[in-house]
Amino acid sequence: MKTVLVTGGAGFIGSHLCKYLLDKNFHVICIDNFFTGRRENILPLLDNPNFELIRHDIINPIHLEVDQIYNLACPASPPAYQYNAIKTVKTSTVGMINMLGLAKRTKARILQASTSEVYGDPLIHPQKESYWGNVNPIGVRSCYDEGKRMAECLCMDYNRMNNVDVRIIRIFNTYGPNMDPDDGRVVSNFIMQALKNKDITIYGNGSQTRSFQYVTDLIDGIYKMMNQDNFIGPVNIGNPNEFTIKELAEKIIKITGSKSKIIYKALPSDDPKQRQPDISLAKEKLDWEPKISLDEGLIKTIEYFKKEIERSNKK
Ligand code: NAD
Ligand code: UDP
Repeated sequence: MKTVLVTGGAGFIGSHLCKYLLDKNFHVICIDNFFTGRRENILPLLDNPNFELIRHDIINPIHLEVDQIYNLACPASPPAYQYNAIKTVKTSTVGMINMLGLAKRTKARILQASTSEVYGDPLIHPQKESYWGNVNPIGVRSCYDEGKRMAECLCMDYNRMNNVDVRIIRIFNTYGPNMDPDDGRVVSNFIMQALKNKDITIYGNGSQTRSFQYVTDLIDGIYKMMNQDNFIGPVNIGNPNEFTIKELAEKIIKITGSKSKIIYKALPSDDPKQRQPDISLAKEKLDWEPKISLDEGLIKTIEYFKKEIERSNKK
């Protein structure tokens, strides 16, 4: 039985990945500092004898024996990663060095959860892996964007200098159950606002675009990337279906049957105007493409948030 480490395992994506790996009979060690992660996300896993939870911050070194490392630890929502920007940089740099050091010592393969944010406010559309991006190095998003770019740099240098077996995926906007209802990202904000019949807050005029991927599609892509031998990446993992933020708001109002009305607020600085993955490399190298449409994924996610509201009403 292989032992795998999932850092950030109590977060949105990490908790799905831990469950998926347990179902595939891996021994899973989950590390989390619970900054944005939630105990509820991993509660159903705690009884599984193959699951271990360690409260730990990856900016401190840790000694473990593992065969594979999925490095997901890092807040992903803009309000969360800007809350303590210096800590975000440390997580993506010092934390990355610690995880690469662990991979080097144990000869474990390590997969880094990078992001479409490495493309910044992209001037090439859709974004291919060969595009170097358009990132403001001194803006409010740079703690995350530049942190993730440095993490990719570290992966490549540990690979070139120390033969560490790395894999890099660039994740595009992902949504689904286990998202924190209060984490400030667009899908969770709009669904919570719609279910409570509160105003839907569009930042800017809503013409900016994103391409939304349902979490189970991402997990399939992550697993395929980790368990193939000939390709380091980076590779885009995302759903190419592109929507404006206004279209997303209207879709969520329609599906929930909400009475909410749309209001417009100031656009945060450096907010990318467009984003869509070119996934031809993932198709070619991993035989991967997403299967779940936005409507299908939103219906499942809305069901999850309805239950979250019921649960918090009972408290
Ligand atoms: P999340 O905030 O729900 O999960 C991140 C987890 O990492 C949380 O459980 C948090 O407590 C933990 N964490 C943060 N800093 C840590 C530290 N220093 N030490 C230990 N644990 C720490 O976010 P998510 O959406 O699940 O994202 C997971 C990963 O995927 C992140 O690295 C993120 O950058 C990347 N990603 C996500 C998306 C997306 O759309 N969700 C897009 C691109 C990239
Ligand atoms: N957004 C919005 N209203 C919200 C939250 C976000 O209009 O309540 C916008 C945000 O300005 C951005 C897009 O939705 O243009 C996606 O935001 P999110 O924070 O989910 O992800 P990211 O900007 O990192 O892609």
